[in-house]
Amino acid sequence: MSTPAVPGPPARSRPDACPGALQTHPAADGFLARVRVPGGLLTADRLRALARAAAELGDGALELTSRGNVQLRGLADGTGTELAGRLGAAGLLPSPAHDRVRNVLASVLTGRAGGLADVRPWVRAVDAGLCTDPRAAELPGRFLVTLDDGRGDVAGAGGDAGLRVLPGGPVALTLAGRDSGLRCGYEEAPGLVLAAISAFLDEHAAQGGTAWRLAELADGPRRVAGRLGATGDLPGAPAAAAGPQPAGEVRQDDGRTALVAVVPLGRLTADQAAAVAGVAAEVQLTPWRGVAVPDLDAPAAAAAALTGAGLVLDPGSPWLRVTACTGRPGCARSLADVRADAAAAVAAGSLPAGGARQHWAGCARRCGRPAGDVVDVVATGGGYRVG
Ligand code: SF4
Repeated sequence: MSTPAVPGPPARSRPDACPGALQTHPAADGFLARVRVPGGLLTADRLRALARAAAELGDGALELTSRGNVQLRGLADGTGTELAGRLGAAGLLPSPAHDRVRNVLASVLTGRAGGLADVRPWVRAVDAGLCTDPRAAELPGRFLVTLDDGRGDVAGAGGDAGLRVLPGGPVALTLAGRDSGLRCGYEEAPGLVLAAISAFLDEHAAQGGTAWRLAELADGPRRVAGRLGATGDLPGAPAAAAGPQPAGEVRQDDGRTALVAVVPLGRLTADQAAAVAGVAAEVQLTPWRGVAVPDLDAPAAAAAALTGAGLVLDPGSPWLRVTACTGRPGCARSLADVRADAAAAVAAGSLPAGGARQHWAGCARRCGRPAGDVVDVVATGGGYRVG
């Protein structure tokens, strides 16, 4: 019996079109810039710089992404140089050549609460490794590195290469979300994932250079693992996607408090960003398009400042169950202003599907739909189809 052919990468004539801070994209509401924030870790000063840029150059808000990055929308044509200068001055553009490839997602509150290790040093090491490797600038903008401290919140986030701390201390290399079977110690872990990225680039070139993700390569995870010395099939099943987003107070290991805030529809206004920056020296953007505000000695005052600005700390709030695509006016394809309609339904207590976890979309593409059990609320031009 013949062996079935392994599908190869799609035939494409262009590189991926992911926006960056320098490579902005035209949208229906102006240009869009995506600023990479490795690990979602932002100092208060950098958050303020982003908020000022959004207020003075964009539409006044920061759009948070499920990879812990930040988008500025509504930029006028010709503001790219001004934006790049501001980001560079704030330290948010350490290597212009690597602008689009610093996609690193890390466990939320790692090193502060929960988890089996602190992976913040890995974030810095992996980002530095990427930015000092000229070849890494060739990575597709969609390539994602996940650094999971053992709690399982980002291992299933669809990463191409990643690390996951295992009970007892060894670290597993994950490829396309699956355990590769390769192991190392904590100190060696950044080097192992950087080696996996290098092996991906080798395999990517060997298969024609058109793939945007590791999973698009023919037998990609196994071949990349093989280039690193693994033999046989990958042993692990794909990691499960993280559950619904958390919210509220978290007791840190050092006795202080973190607040995990839901940002309604992932849109952080400049005023909300200023409120966040006013209560903590560093924050972490989350894969749920929210923000974790750690190291608080006076959590009650901080909570009042955040909720006063419109952020949500109540784990019972309907905002934990509602996501939406860009919709009008940002997307020309949209049949409705889905964010306004979703916000109105939350305010009126009239969410469809009994308020179940739901994603509102302006067309059938359903951009930004979270993984897992989610009801679709899709604009039809004459209302919404729920199902
Ligand atoms: S789901 Fe449709 S309307 Fe919404 S952002 Fe995507 S393409 Fe635009």
